[in-house]
Amino acid sequence: MKIQIVSCCLEEGNLSFPLGALSIQTAIQHHRTLKSHECSLGAYTLEDDPVEAAERSAGSEATHIGCSIYLWNRSWFDQFSQRLKELAPSVILFAGGTEVTANPQSFDFGLYDFLTLGEGEQSTTLALCQLLDGKKPQGPGIVAKGDELSYAFPEDLSTLDSVLLSGSAASFMKPGASVLWEMTRGCPFNCAFCFESKGIRSVRHFSYDRIDEELEYLLANQVEEVFVLDPTFNMDKGRTVQMLSLLVQKAQDIHFIFELRAELLDEELADLFSQLNCSLQIGLQSSSPTVLKAINRRFDQALFLKKIDLLNRRGIVFGLDLIIGLPHDSFPIFCNSLDFTVGCKPSNIDIFALSLLPGTSLADNAGKFGIKHQEDSPYTVISTPTYPEGDIAKALKLKDACDLLYTKGEASMWIHTFCEAAQCTPSTLFSHFATYTDFLTQRRGTDPAEMDIYELQEQFVRDLLKKLKRERYLPPLLSFMELHQGVAFLRDTGENPVISISYELDEIAKLDTMHIEKFLAKHPNQSRQTLGIVEHEDGSIGFIEQKL
Ligand code: SF4
Repeated sequence: MKIQIVSCCLEEGNLSFPLGALSIQTAIQHHRTLKSHECSLGAYTLEDDPVEAAERSAGSEATHIGCSIYLWNRSWFDQFSQRLKELAPSVILFAGGTEVTANPQSFDFGLYDFLTLGEGEQSTTLALCQLLDGKKPQGPGIVAKGDELSYAFPEDLSTLDSVLLSGSAASFMKPGASVLWEMTRGCPFNCAFCFESKGIRSVRHFSYDRIDEELEYLLANQVEEVFVLDPTFNMDKGRTVQMLSLLVQKAQDIHFIFELRAELLDEELADLFSQLNCSLQIGLQSSSPTVLKAINRRFDQALFLKKIDLLNRRGIVFGLDLIIGLPHDSFPIFCNSLDFTVGCKPSNIDIFALSLLPGTSLADNAGKFGIKHQEDSPYTVISTPTYPEGDIAKALKLKDACDLLYTKGEASMWIHTFCEAAQCTPSTLFSHFATYTDFLTQRRGTDPAEMDIYELQEQFVRDLLKKLKRERYLPPLLSFMELHQGVAFLRDTGENPVISISYELDEIAKLDTMHIEKFLAKHPNQSRQTLGIVEHEDGSIGFIEQKL
């Protein structure tokens, strides 16, 4: 038996770390029966040609080939598997991963010899051992033609060998690498749009000692960024404090990304996060209690704002997620959610059109809610009774505008002042920006996404305030923007920018909390300042007056 596990990540670079495929490879390489058989990894990205990848696998003399299939690489693997079986019909082809678990009926048993549903370490090794013995693969989580569906989730995670400590991931451990690091499997919540919605995966943790050892490994390999895989990192307060204390003590050189529930934050956790180099991602999804109730999420707006304030007061970087097209959602509700989200001052806002993932309770109930969606991966919403197709297109336009103006443009610190000057909500501002970028694309033949973002922001601000006849707000607004753009530039590039502003630094900084109208009344006179921005050793920012 010669085994190959094939992975296809989204892209080269950040997070091109095929954790699922590596987990299966590690399980095979450490299995008492299978370890004497060669097991290699064929690692690809979506940029690679699936037909060429299939030709390479067919030429590798592998006798058993496993595919690690997710929502985003489904069509890549459809092409890969088709071509592979044409070239090497005798190869035993099998597949696992979230797409296989969610939608096993959509896989062709003329192509695949068996599927593994759930977490595949134990089911895959069991099936391969049965094949070695000349038997038909069968058992929990193994599905071949004609079998009933069954799912397997290893109860005791200590029985699984570590992808990191076993050395399986060694070729991905270059200095500066980004990796996925698993701390926990399963989630206690049941959000209807999520794979966890049916509660079939119980919550299981990897042990503290293993995590400690894996951290030493990540540090020794000078990994730069770690995306922590724990669907709700702060679910169990005691364990969260324990893990954060470990990271604070040992891992100041790594940037961590955690997924959290805001409602479960408190002062102690916020203090620990503030001592780490990290960013937090928080799923808000919508600010409408009606929408959230329909997907099994409770929402207390006042509590959410209180918890977000814990982060903002400590300068902790965080992002918020929104979903377009949930039950009862509509374009006006989305605009309200977007306005609420911007008001929380996240550094990034990630907006997704709803995917009706097979295997989730929302996909099961899509008909009941009147949700129309694509039948094939990525199962995106087309329309709902409250969200006609045209309104979804409008919301996606706002998403693009928000991605560029707000998230790429790092506008969280000044956009409220722009809204005050333009006398409109953030969502209206994004709508104006979408019109402006359409104009640049269609009339000027310019791709706004390719422009220098700070220049694009300045041009848009000038253009809009001129149209609205509010040019008097330009000097304070442009100065306030330049101040924050300069700091963002320094943080992003490490280079020291020089900014030119129309007011004293102490004055312009008041716009953080002062309305621009009041600012203009209090500061009628301008005074040109040219300042260099530097970062001190302790990470604080300093301004040095430039004599011209
Ligand atoms: S969306 Fe997050 S919190 Fe909700 S069930 Fe899924 S993993 Fe858990």
